[in-house]
Amino acid sequence: MTHGHVTDAIRYIRSLYAEEDDVLRHAAQRASDAGRPIHVGAEEGKLLQWLVRLSGARRIVEVGTLTAYSTVWVARGLPEGGQVTTLEHDPTMAALAHETIAEAGLSSIITLIEGDAQASLSALSDDGPFDMIFIDADKISYPLYLDWAEQHIRPGGLIIGDNTLLFGAVYQNELPEGVRQGTKDAMQQFNTRLADPARFDAVMVPTHEGLSVAIKR
Ligand code: SAH
Ligand code: MG
Repeated sequence: MTHGHVTDAIRYIRSLYAEEDDVLRHAAQRASDAGRPIHVGAEEGKLLQWLVRLSGARRIVEVGTLTAYSTVWVARGLPEGGQVTTLEHDPTMAALAHETIAEAGLSSIITLIEGDAQASLSALSDDGPFDMIFIDADKISYPLYLDWAEQHIRPGGLIIGDNTLLFGAVYQNELPEGVRQGTKDAMQQFNTRLADPARFDAVMVPTHEGLSVAIKR
């Protein structure tokens, strides 16, 4: 959700390292037109893609597709034969995501599963282990997604979570507008669990939203 916070520094970084092509521009436009411009920023998309390349991930799960903006960034980092499975419960968004995936020519690489992510993750359990998960959906469910990731991401694989600063809620006493206590508790639990060096080797990239990246031990 960096859209409201595009600084000159971010514009500079994007112009050098994270230029969007028409496919990505159109994916972003679909989200804006639908009134939900809440995809990752281009520089974050590029970071995700770069993490895919750096780690050599081949089998990836994404929780929260929106219009497949981040999905396209991630899929373009995969080696030959790599696959992304992305989960979305909103039929309107799923339809827009299918448009993006088709325009990108990535229909054989990206599989979109429509429905509640928890049910979809359960259904995917037998297909594991996976190399990477990108969690970017309903914040209150992050601990449940992490439960799944602990079981189905391979040791050495990546667990990535977006929006993990929760608008400052995780470190402030007062709740920011629109953030509920239960969501704050959930995100604090997510972050604290990732901080356990016996289970993870984690960092948080200090984006405006907070982007957690953990290697599973
Ligand atoms: N990853 C995308 C942005 C995702 S926005 C990008 O950066 O381009 C979050 C998405 O998660 C929304 O489209 C929302 O409909 C979806 N979502 C929220 N709760 C969900 C759930 N329980 N199951 C599946 N999808 C969910
Ligand atoms: Mg996000």
